Amino acid sequence: MLKLSIPSLLLSLAAVLAPGQALGFELSYLVGLRGNKHTYYAHLPGNLPDGVSFFESFVRSLHVWMDASGNISLNAIEEEREVCQTNFRGSSQNKVNTASFSTTFCGDDSYFSSGGTVADAVTQTSWDPGGIVESDIVFNEHSRSRFESVAHHFHHVATHEIGHTLGFGHSAVRSAIMQARLNYGRRDPVLSIDDRCALAMRYGSPGECPILLGEGLSTDSLPTEARFVGGATTNGGRTFENHFKPSDRITVYGTVVKDRTHGHRPGDLHVVVATDNGILFARHADGNFHPLEDASDIPSAGALKPGLYAQDLVIMGTRHYDREPSVGPLIGSVYQLQGQAISFYLAYSLDERPGVYYFGSEPIRVSWSEE
Ligand SMILES: [Zn+2]
Repeated sequence: MLKLSIPSLLLSLAAVLAPGQALGFELSYLVGLRGNKHTYYAHLPGNLPDGVSFFESFVRSLHVWMDASGNISLNAIEEEREVCQTNFRGSSQNKVNTASFSTTFCGDDSYFSSGGTVADAVTQTSWDPGGIVESDIVFNEHSRSRFESVAHHFHHVATHEIGHTLGFGHSAVRSAIMQARLNYGRRDPVLSIDDRCALAMRYGSPGECPILLGEGLSTDSLPTEARFVGGATTNGGRTFENHFKPSDRITVYGTVVKDRTHGHRPGDLHVVVATDNGILFARHADGNFHPLEDASDIPSAGALKPGLYAQDLVIMGTRHYDREPSVGPLIGSVYQLQGQAISFYLAYSLDERPGVYYFGSEPIRVSWSEE
């Protein structure tokens, strides 16, 4: 049974994302690479501005992930192989992993030459319940001049697309390699804390993630593999802190890593905020916080997406896309909580078990010093 995740394809547009939601880190599938290994047949003629070949840059991008994990083995063979399924437009499923340049994605040019939004690359990944079975990265031939002229850009896009082939979705965290929109060639790609947490959750152990929120617990006291990750930042997730100045613009990111048995079950995300004085608030789906009346019936902060193994949420703060509204005027104008230490607890629930919450034992703590 071969499955193709179309949403993953749509979310795999680097550099410019088609309108839609960018979804800390996400894991697209319940499974990772088979045997934690992947070999790509790469046909990438041409060179970067500094004379390094695209192929060599692709290999360096593989090493960005491998050097951070130690548990995955990725390699590239410089050889041209068939990318597409011959009788299926838009499908790359032919059991060969590739990286190549083209003006279309297997005959479908909607990603590479449509009006306003043109992707620099598209990745299509297929998986079955045993693991990821195939990935194909197609770099947009129309973007070649940019790849050849802007330092770091190809390396950056390649590192992002390779992240998709590891089973990672997009991240809301601005500093993440897996952020949906990359800045052209600003710097050498460096994995953010968020990217490292995605690696830890999928290919390492949760304890390797520095912003893990304690143990995963359940209100019915049954053991769970669920894990919760998150933190507060003023610099797009380059660093996470607990203490802030009153004037800081804080963004709080979180990711729910579901128990493996909950992958496809519908349910809800939840955020409960506790002040030092014991007052409780809940984040609602529109991003606003309201006092929590009944702790046994917590409002939804958003729907769980079936099929996503890990799902992120901007708990509080401004999304990095201008067109998306700020969420949660919790601290400032509405509730006047400046100066109080507050704790954000991240949780989820399943429709089939009303009243049972899976949550991280540790909160994201935010406190202020006098300015
Ligand atoms: Zn992407």
